[in-house]
Order: sequence, then C-alpha cells, then structure tokens
Amino acid sequence: MNVLIVEDNADVRKLLLYTFEHHNCTVTEAQDGQEGLELAALHKPDVIISDALMPRMDGFQLLRALKADPALQSIPFIFYSSTYTGVEEEKLILSLGAEAFVAKPTEPEELWQKTCAIMDAWQVRQRKPAHPAIDESDEQYLREYSRIVASKLEEKVKELEVALALRIQAEDELRCLNAKLEQRVAREVEQNREKDRIMAHQSRLAAMGEMLSNIAHQWRQPLNNISLIVQNLQVEYEMDVLTRDSCREYVSECMEILAYMSRTINTFSTFYQPDRVRQLFELYPAIADALSLVREDLESHGIAYGIVNEYDSCVNGFRNEFSQVLLNIIVNAKEALLMRQPPAPKVSIVCSQEGASAVVTVSDNGGGIPPEILDKIFDPYFTTKFMSQGTGVGLYMSKMIIEKHMGGRISIANRADGVDGVDGAEVTIELPLAPPAASDGRAAV
Ligand code: ADP
Repeated sequence: MNVLIVEDNADVRKLLLYTFEHHNCTVTEAQDGQEGLELAALHKPDVIISDALMPRMDGFQLLRALKADPALQSIPFIFYSSTYTGVEEEKLILSLGAEAFVAKPTEPEELWQKTCAIMDAWQVRQRKPAHPAIDESDEQYLREYSRIVASKLEEKVKELEVALALRIQAEDELRCLNAKLEQRVAREVEQNREKDRIMAHQSRLAAMGEMLSNIAHQWRQPLNNISLIVQNLQVEYEMDVLTRDSCREYVSECMEILAYMSRTINTFSTFYQPDRVRQLFELYPAIADALSLVREDLESHGIAYGIVNEYDSCVNGFRNEFSQVLLNIIVNAKEALLMRQPPAPKVSIVCSQEGASAVVTVSDNGGGIPPEILDKIFDPYFTTKFMSQGTGVGLYMSKMIIEKHMGGRISIANRADGVDGVDGAEVTIELPLAPPAASDGRAAV
C-alpha cells in the first residue's frame, strides 16, 4: 500500500513512517498541506493520512483541494487530529469527503489497524456512487470552516494565555527562589568562615596549650637544678663553708640555667608564630625542629624516635605551619603509644621522594586506628581522647595546612608491619617538590 503522511511534527511523522513501513507500505512524507497536495498529484497514493493544523495549508484546505481535483478526489483521506476532535468538526470533515476521522494520539499499531479497516470499508463503498463533487463556492462549508477555525484559535489563544500566566508565575517563583538561594549561600559561606575562624582559634589555643606543656617539660629539669643550687647555697652558708668563689660559681650556674630557660621560651614562641609569607624551605630541618620540641617529652616516656632522610627535599610553603603539622602528628603518635604501652614504643619519620613529590611518613607502633573511625579522624572536632585531653582539631587543621595552604596531600593508614613489625598508624604527607631538589641520599638519627 502506498501511504502519504501529511504531518508538520517530525517526531509523529517518523513514528508513522516506521509503523507503516514495518507493514510493508511505501511511505511518502509531506510537512504541510501544500506539499501534501503536490506529492499526492505526483505519487497518487492509495491513502492519505493528514494532520489538521499545519502551516501554509491545513488539513481542511488539503481535503477540499483534493476533493476538488478530479484526478485526486477518489484517494481515501484519513483525518488524524488532536485539535479538531468535536462532533461538529468530525461532521464537517466527513461531509467534505474524508473517509474517517482518527483522534490523536492513537498508538501507531492501532492506527495501522484502523487504516486497514477504513480501507476495507472504502473498497466496499467504492461500488456505490462516489461523493458528490464539491462546489468551491459552498457557503455552508466556508461558514462552518471559519467558525471551527475561529473557535479553535480562540481556544488556542486561551491556552497560550494560561501558559503565559503560568510561565510568568514560574519565573517569579524562580526569581524568588534564586534570591533565597543566594541569601542562603551567602549565609552558609559566612557561617563556614566563622567556623574556620573558630577552628583556627581553637587550634591556636590547643597549640598554646601544647607549647605550655612542652615548656613545662623543658623547664622541669632546670628548675630542679636551680632548686638544688639554692638549697646547696643555704646549707653551705649555714654550715659556714660558703666561700666567695663557690657562691660565684652557684650564681653563674643559676644564670646559665636561667638563660637556657629563657631560650626555651624564645624557641617555642618563634615556633608557634604564624607564617606570613610562602617560602622555599627544606623539609628535614623543619621536621628536626618539630622533633626537638618534643624530644625530652618522648625520652621521659621511654619512647624511641628517629628520622631517616633519604633525600634532601625542598618545598614551597609555610615552614612553621608545616612543623606544627609534624608536631601534631608526633604528639598523636606519642599519645597512642602511651595508651597502648607496647614493649618498645617508637616513632619513625622517613623523608623520601616519589616522582615530583616529597614524601614524609610518620609511623608508630601504638596499635593503629580502629577501622570504623579511619574515615572520620580528619573531621573537625573528632576525637577519641577523654574530655579536655583532645580537641579533635589537630588532624583537621593539619589537612587544611597541607592540602589547602601547601597544595599537598595527607593521609593516614594502619600498618600491620609497622615499626618493628608491631601494629601502628602511618601518616603520609606528600608535597610538590620545589625545583631544584637536591638528590643525594643522606641518613640521620
Ligand atoms: P585529638 O588529638 O585532639 O583527638 P586529632 O584530630 O589530632 O585530635 O586526632 C583525631 C583522632 O585520631 C584522635 O583522637 C585519635 O583517635 C586518632 N589518631 C590520630 N593519630 C593517631 C595515631 N597515631 N594512632 C592512633 N590513633 C590516632
């Protein structure tokens, strides 16, 4: 069967084309009534299936033009419309000589079935007299056609007005939503800034607390020495054995110790001073600085420590902040070791390189981190330490410093083959190497 499909919607056209071709029909497509009329004259199809509303020439006009042409008027015409679905419209369509009216949308397969049925009925009717020829000046038709088109246009205009009103309302709502969203984003950003400020403040407080506790550690021995010297002075004086020289010696010893104590304060306060500018610095001395601050503390708890410097690596960033990160990690390792009390507690630091990165690992044999909290320990305020002992900001701030300030990466993992083959945690810091990086191997304590 040769089918001419007249339809301005390309998707509907394609669907009908596939369906009819699937049933071995030869299909010709036209985009509007005008083209439909030309193709009908050219191909003389067995049936025409036409949409109603189309540009240039609509379905009514096409039907009228076909029925007015003696060469084309006998081609069965199926009106396929979603616009003109009323009884009046159907009456007019049939009165113009269409074989049938099918309302859109109809499943393609169903349309095919209906087309076959319509064609069968048409064959039977063919034996009866054909439709009367259409009179071009048929006033009745023109009146009816104009009324239907006008009423459909009115409906369309109303639909468009409603759609427009809805669209305007939706746009207003969208604008309102956008404004609210912007306000919310601004509020969130401000809250985040505030949170960061608070965290930085807490981290400073924690650092200060650490500094005081380290100073206290460093001062314990010299204070003890001064107390012994003063007691000696008193005893010697009371026993009347204090000479001018021994008195001078005691005073000078005291002065030396006091100078050492004062240096300790300087060292710590410089260490905790925030960096103002980025600088090129070598990792090994910055790590050694951090270690020197807790050296006595570690020793006093019997914790061994060591740095292996496989490569002298130079990076670009904030030296003091980096040392504070290291101090944080070492203190965490110390606390884990004090909790777990392994037979030979140890903290090991290795500086190495991998490709374009300097890599620093800090491992301990303090038992490691329970797997269920591994993905939380970089969260702000996450701590497993009792009450005042932990703030939970150490690793969070370390991550900020390494990843946000210095463009590196910090991660933590458990190692079953940790220090001396005992379970423990290993923190890895990777930082982009600053050129030129020296590359001779070197090992240190
Ligand atoms: P805080 O030390 O104040 O608790 P951190 O952010 O520095 O805060 O550490 C978060 C948590 O990570 C700690 O409470 C601890 O449970 C865990 N942790 C960090 N380092 C280690 C480590 N070396 N061994 C075991 N647990 C660790």
